[in-house]
Amino acid sequence: MKETILVTGGAGYIGSHIVVELARAGYAPVVLDNFANSTPAVMSRLQALAGRPVPLVTADVRDAVALRSAFHDHPIAAVVHCAGLKAVGEAEGRPLAYYDVNVGGAIALAEVMGEAGVATLVFSSSATVYGQPDDLPVTEDAALRPHNVYGRTKRVVEDFLRDLAHANANWRIAILRYFNPAGAHSSGMLGEASRGRPNNLVPLLCKIAAGELAEVAIYGGDWPTPDGTGIRDYLHVQDLAEGHVAALSYLAAATGAITLNLGAGSGHSVLEVIAAFEASCGRKITRVMSPRRPGDVACYYADPARAEAILDWRAKRDLGTICADAWRWQKNGGRY
Ligand code: NAD
Ligand code: UDP
Repeated sequence: MKETILVTGGAGYIGSHIVVELARAGYAPVVLDNFANSTPAVMSRLQALAGRPVPLVTADVRDAVALRSAFHDHPIAAVVHCAGLKAVGEAEGRPLAYYDVNVGGAIALAEVMGEAGVATLVFSSSATVYGQPDDLPVTEDAALRPHNVYGRTKRVVEDFLRDLAHANANWRIAILRYFNPAGAHSSGMLGEASRGRPNNLVPLLCKIAAGELAEVAIYGGDWPTPDGTGIRDYLHVQDLAEGHVAALSYLAAATGAITLNLGAGSGHSVLEVIAAFEASCGRKITRVMSPRRPGDVACYYADPARAEAILDWRAKRDLGTICADAWRWQKNGGRY
């Protein structure tokens, strides 16, 4: 058995897939979550897929007292920090809440990790930190110009983690910038359990195919792309989870902070995603053309070369697999 890894936000969409991949790789994951955007019902699925008990710490990541207890009660060797608030639109109206949880949570965690002598951290950042990129594919050296509150909370945490690693050579930190995580666990037992109307494209298509929503509004058919719709880099959530396992194994023999893009390295338009989803579910997706969504960009996709070289990781699952797995999860109910 390898080390014990604390996964904050481990009951959430991405964190739950990381927990399963960690267990598969022989680690002993421990979940910390306050269920702000998830439910304890995920835990029995996690234990079944992990094939071992997965301890749960029900706590807010900003609560230093609760964090100290978690480090006292479990032999934690490293942390994967996924806990946070992620609704881009909501963040614009609630900046204080977003800075408090995303930035305040990371500070409280780093402080308690320091006290506990645990210095290995993998952080969930986002390609949102780039804003509108000048060049494609987007490399890690691109300018950071987040054009929303959510992206700025991620940039602040990134800066502070790099400063931390600079100030104290004990830290081993991997900052992972996710592109567009999508899909669900191939078992159909884990996925994104959206509350209310989903914002992201693939979960929305699931609800439409299931008859829960009527149609998808395509946000702009006049972008400077081959078919006029926006292009993004969709990354299967299990590929993303495997990237975290690779990052932990890299950090075992590294020091300092490293920043890596996790993306598939190629883009798909909204129309391509809809076509792939229709092929997976065998149903027609009704769509209407709508104006562009404020803050959207035409096209971005990752240059994942650094992650491939350093972590020996690459996305293995294609868009068809993303859609098929998302649809399987939806057919199983799409919730816990
Ligand atoms: P999610 O909402 O499904 O998971 C986040 C988890 O954190 C939830 O279980 C939630 O209950 C928990 N949480 C929230 N606030 C907390 C707090 N104060 N204390 C403890 N737990 C708390 O979101 P996700 O999609 O799994 O995202 C995980 C991480 O990845 C987030 O940091 C998010 O910003 C980042 N990210 C997500 C995407 C994406 O498209 N899903 C893209 C880039 C980055
Ligand atoms: N999109 C869309 N209609 C929707 C939701 C999304 O046309 O209802 C488009 C969006 O403009 C972008 C792509 O789908 O080009 C992915 O959007 P999503 O919100 O999933 O991810 P983002 O890249 O914005 O984080």
